[in-house]
Amino acid sequence: MSTLYVVPTPIGNLEDITLRALRILKEADFVLAEDTRTTGQLLKHYEISNQLISHHIHNEHKTVERMVDQIKSAKSAAIVSDAGTPSISDPGFLLVRACIENDINVVCLPGPSAIIPAIVGCGFPCDSFIFEGFLPHKKGRQTKWKAIAEEPKSVVLYESPHRLKKALKEMVEFLAPNRQICVAREISKLHENFHRGTAAELLEYFEEKPPKGEIVIVISAKTKEHKND
Ligand code: SAM
Repeated sequence: MSTLYVVPTPIGNLEDITLRALRILKEADFVLAEDTRTTGQLLKHYEISNQLISHHIHNEHKTVERMVDQIKSAKSAAIVSDAGTPSISDPGFLLVRACIENDINVVCLPGPSAIIPAIVGCGFPCDSFIFEGFLPHKKGRQTKWKAIAEEPKSVVLYESPHRLKKALKEMVEFLAPNRQICVAREISKLHENFHRGTAAELLEYFEEKPPKGEIVIVISAKTKEHKND
């Protein structure tokens, strides 16, 4: 039986890769990569050479059947995204589902994803939380904020730096003013920083110091101390 290995890769610090991930990337018959140049550089850093095949979100629908055939005719293949865990706001899910449907063994390696250091490092309760990925840019965004305003669990969001201020303004508009927010920036990188405060406080901070780098937002759970207008 063929095996597809889902292999997480570092989200910044290149030391954050497991020994098992390195072995699989070396031993797999080929590696499906979101961006073959990015993964090529990563493999070069670890002195691994392997065949890289492009598998990105724009072609995933079209190529999934061909990929399944290719994996079936091999002993094993690995899938990676540019950073972190494939399928988490990245390509991977369609292939994983197709492999399961085609009796291909799917093995997911534990490893880096921006979600876990953000929720653990924010300091809000993390025994139970929800992950929303990127909010929709336009349609459905308000509905999401209204749901988050009532959410009794901590909420983890991905956001780009140039939309952070817009998101904070929306939090000021939709969430109880005393909900605590954490903006986790550049996790595992040189300028890693966790900014904590209310949405209004963080908005004031980022108005003065425009955000740079990669960002995860964590919003504390709504409790009885939080009254939405
Ligand atoms: N698959 C990845 C994972 O497992 O985390 C996520 C990929 S998604 C396309 C990229 C988003 O993840 C970024 O816009 C940011 O929200 C978040 N992210 C990735 N690396 C990060 C880092 N080092 N620090 C903070 N956020 C990060």
